This record gives sequence, structure tokens and C-alpha cells, in this order.
Amino acid sequence: MTMVGRQSETPRREPREGDQARASRVLELPGAVSVRQLADMLQMSSIDVIKRLMRRGIMANINQVIDYETAAAVVQGLGYEPHPQAKSAKRQASVVGEIKRQQAAGEESGLKPRPPVVTMMGHVDHGKTSLLDAIRKGNAAAGEVGGITQHIGAYQVEVNGQKITFLDTPGHEAFTAMRARGAQVTDIAILVVAADDGVQPQTLEALGHARAAGVTVMVAINKIDKPTANPNMVKQQLADAGLICEDWGGDTVCVGTSAKTYTGVNDLLENLLIVAEIENLRANPSRSAVGTVIEAKMDKTRGPVATVLMHDGTLKVGDIVAVGTTWGHVKAMVSEAGKRLKRAEPSTPVEILGLAVVPQVGDTMKAVPNEHTAENLAKQREQELEGAKTRAVNLENLFEQINAGKVKELNIILRADVQGSIEPIKTSLEQLSSDEVKVRIVHAGTGNINESDVMLAVASKALIVGFNVGIEPGGKRVAEAEGINIHIYDIIYSIVDDVAKALKGMLEPKYADVVQGRAEVRAVFPAGKKQNVAGIYVTEGTLSRNDKVRVLSAGKVLADTSATSMRRFKEDVIELARGFEGGVGLEGFNDFTPGDILEFYRKERVGTSPR
Ligand code: GDP
Repeated sequence: MTMVGRQSETPRREPREGDQARASRVLELPGAVSVRQLADMLQMSSIDVIKRLMRRGIMANINQVIDYETAAAVVQGLGYEPHPQAKSAKRQASVVGEIKRQQAAGEESGLKPRPPVVTMMGHVDHGKTSLLDAIRKGNAAAGEVGGITQHIGAYQVEVNGQKITFLDTPGHEAFTAMRARGAQVTDIAILVVAADDGVQPQTLEALGHARAAGVTVMVAINKIDKPTANPNMVKQQLADAGLICEDWGGDTVCVGTSAKTYTGVNDLLENLLIVAEIENLRANPSRSAVGTVIEAKMDKTRGPVATVLMHDGTLKVGDIVAVGTTWGHVKAMVSEAGKRLKRAEPSTPVEILGLAVVPQVGDTMKAVPNEHTAENLAKQREQELEGAKTRAVNLENLFEQINAGKVKELNIILRADVQGSIEPIKTSLEQLSSDEVKVRIVHAGTGNINESDVMLAVASKALIVGFNVGIEPGGKRVAEAEGINIHIYDIIYSIVDDVAKALKGMLEPKYADVVQGRAEVRAVFPAGKKQNVAGIYVTEGTLSRNDKVRVLSAGKVLADTSATSMRRFKEDVIELARGFEGGVGLEGFNDFTPGDILEFYRKERVGTSPR
């Protein structure tokens, strides 16, 4: 059992005599680890880790996943002895022993085991919410939780005396949206696959997102109570996607479950604890608190309320905290069971009251010694956010960024119309990797580019390439807001050619006509001596006074011109949105007929999302 998608796994060496003496310097590393995780393991700031990577010529951001060799080189430089993390639960006995020794050593330096933070992912209706409910209720039935539980975005259960934290907003969209804000709180993702429905598009999408984030994946083959359940079919489909279950000789824990009958749920929880143990999740409860906002709202009576998932340290009532671009004093803390808490330890979700304004989901919370520091941190964050958008990678600025040493890895999200196109594009793009820049396809799938692709692009600092696909409205909206570039093609050669040229700084910007809005002519009015105005109804998009206009009649272009007037009732306007009626006059064209279409367009850079 291990992370999926590890490529550089080397066989684990069995513990030798003398290990005990060196145990405090031994560090188990997974095949891939994010900079943040590595920093946590080393009890260092992420900035420090990034600096050390820079010295080795690797530009990485806080969420970037680095491979074992790179991580090993960093930890070696700090005097640790890196060991590859073990792969299979069956081979765990010795590993667990070693981890226990490390943990004991860690405890001396203040590090203590912390509960794993778990997210459910998978296709819609496969049972993510039902499993979350079953686990929560099952635990409550065991007499653990009293009172009325409330939804605060996460909850904890206790299994064999050990805690597990579940994020109760299931799905990879929420997971990746959080990563896009720079926060990765999940340690383990449970991929839920219905045994009667098998692997579906969103199952693969979820797997892609978990892999891109480098989190450990476990599988719950759910709905095994159903007569049509076929777990073997699911395992086969997962194997086709490169995820091999343990009982098929692979590394991934796969458990049959039923959220309906509770079958297998305890097994799932016990396996979670084993996986968590191998992950060796630790934190230092005695340092000052650090956490991430997982939910936030304005409450009528309580004011701004944020649910914070604690990563490290212990948060106490009265602490001064900087949260994103705001700060405040922690006036009160409430658990998901509605209990008032005085302290919150690592991996605990708590609602905190006392902030000045509602923070953003994904914001980091830090306890600080005084108000001055809190204020400064909040200001600093504000400035960071302002600068963040301009850092997005696109084909036009790629070369510049490579030269400035800002890009060492070009991450690409690929969408194609059919599965058959993905492999050749992927291979051709990856072959463009050079010593300076590695081209990496972080996620590939079929179908239109959607919102979650864009969020993944934000999270992985990737650009999006589409082949014979469209962009869903939600995707377009988020791309515009986040400054993410989408490049659409209909010839494979052009994709490879453009990326190759961009890598060499030889890409010329291209322009094309992009339709902004369409309207139908409903009536014609005289407006002056020889001028007619069309009474129109906007059927699509928005008409802008300054855009170019084509008049279409039965598919033929009657005129290609610009607007001389645009009115809504008697008022001059500069825009008319979908669903509105208005009047439009055109330069040098009067020959309107009801039923004609007015197409408003403008020239835009192709390959770039409209901004
Ligand atoms: P989600 O979209 O993945 O969160 O799926 P839900 O948890 O909402 O479940 C979708 C449907 O499947 C609901 O009608 C559930 O009652 C049903 N369901 C979920 N888990 C099971 C299960 O283990 N067995 C059976 N028979 N039905 C289930």
C-alpha cells in the first residue's frame, strides 16, 4: 500500500542491526512528496525547503510534488539517512516497528503522531456521502459522540482508540479548489467506486487529481450489498487505469464496502489506520498553531465563523491569529459535536469565532505572538494575492519564464475528444522535455474542458491544452477569473509544434475572430433619412457597442461592419446582454430583414483564454 503514481520506487532495505542507534536520523520518504509535506516531515519552513531545492537547480512551489531522489538529496544534505517508504501492507511489520522507533525519537523533539485527514472522491452517486454518513453514524452508535452534530466541513471518528479526520465535503472538485488556493490538507484519498457501476469518467478524473496532488489513494469498492455488484470487474478497470489492488499483487488497498449494510466499513477504517501509520504523519502540538480554513461563513448572531483544520501546534482560546488577509482573537472554538473547546490539537477541525471578516476557504491560519505580527502577515498575504495572477504560465510567456528560471517543469492538462488521441499527444509532448524543462502531463481525459480542469491547472500551475473539445461555461468563467490559459487545437501537429516553439521562445501570437454575442432581428424601424435601425433580441452572450458586427441571412454574410448606435428603450447603451431587447444601427447597412442574425465579434489571441 502506497501512493499511486510513484515511478522511482526502489526496493526497501530491511532494517539492520545498529539501526536503533541511528534511528533518530533515519527518515522514511515516499516515492513522491510535496514540498509542504517534506517541510512538515523535516519540521522546517516550506520556504527553507524551496531554497534548498533551488540550490539544486529545482524551482518548486509549495504544492509541487518532488520525486524520491530529489527529496532524498535534500534530506541527506540535512544529515538524515533517507529510506524509501515501504510499499505493501503485507511487508509492513518491520516498517511499522521502524516507524515506531522514529516516532519515539520524534516525540523527544516534540513531534507526535497526528490523525490522518481523509477525503472521499469518486463518480457521482457511487456512495461518497453515504459512506461519510455511515462512518459518522456508526461511530456515534458506538457511544462516541453525544448531542447534536453539526456540519462544519469535517469530523473526527475514533477507531481502536485512534482518531481519523474526515473532510465531509466529498469530491475532487472541492479538494482541488483547496489546492488551487495553496492548501493541501488531505493525507489520504478514498476513491469510491460502485461495484455495480464500475469505473466511470469522474472516477478517473478523481484519480488524476489525487495523483497530481501526490496523495495516497485507497479504494472503497462500494455497494457490495447489491446483487449486481461485481468487485472483480472494478479491480480490472482500476488495473487498466494503472491502479492495482493489493490482492491482485499491487500496492493499493482496496476494500469492499456497503454504506447501506455497513459491511466492510470497519475494515476500511482499520486499513486507513495502517495506511496512516505508514505515512508516519506527525505534528508538534507544543508549537504555535497552524491550520487551514476549510469552511467559512457569516453567521447572523456569531459574526464571521471559520472552520479550521489544524495541521500543527495547538490552538487555544485567546490566541491571536492571522487568517489569509484578515486577523483576530480566537474568542471561542466549537467542535463538530457542538461542544465548546479550549484547545485544538493537530488534525482537529474546529469552528473559530472572533475574526474581523469572513476568510477564504484554503486560507492559512497562523497563531502569532501579537497583533502587530498578525496585521503584517495579513497585509503580506494581500500583496502575495495581487502578484499571484501574473505568475500563470502560458505558451506566450513560457520562454521568458524559463529564462528567468521560474519554470523548470511545464505542467499540462490535456483534454481530447477521444481516448485514442490522448496517448499520441501525451507521448509527443513529453518527448519535448529537455535538460532545462521537463514537460509533464499532470492529467489527461476525454470530453470538454471543465471547471475542475481549470482548478487543477491553478493548483498545479499548469496550462490547459484541448484537442477537438470545447470549454464548458463554468470552466471558461473560472479560467478568466484565475488567469489560466486554455489552448484549443484541431491538429495534433499544431499542438506539438506550438509547445515546441514556445519552449524555444519562437511562438508568434495568433489572432482570430471570437464571437461575443448573437441577436435576432425582430423588426425594422426607420431612423432618419436613409437609415434603418434593427429591433433585436439578444439570443447569446453580450453585444458590445465597440465590437465588430456581421449580418447573417440564411447562413450568408450580408455585411461585416460596426455598430453606429445601440439602444435599450430610449437610452443609449454600450452593452446588451442575453435575454434583452434593443435597437441597433449599423455603419453602411440598412437592409435588415426580420430573422437576420447579428453576430458581434472581436479579434482575440487564439490559444489564450479570453480575459
Ligand atoms: P455520492 O454522489 O457519491 O455522494 O453518492 P451518495 O452517497 O449520494 O449515494 C448515491 C445513491 O446510492 C444513494 O441513493 C444511496 O442511498 C445509494 N448508496 C450509497 N451507498 C450504497 C451502498 O453501499 N449500497 C446500496 N445498495 N446503495 C448505496
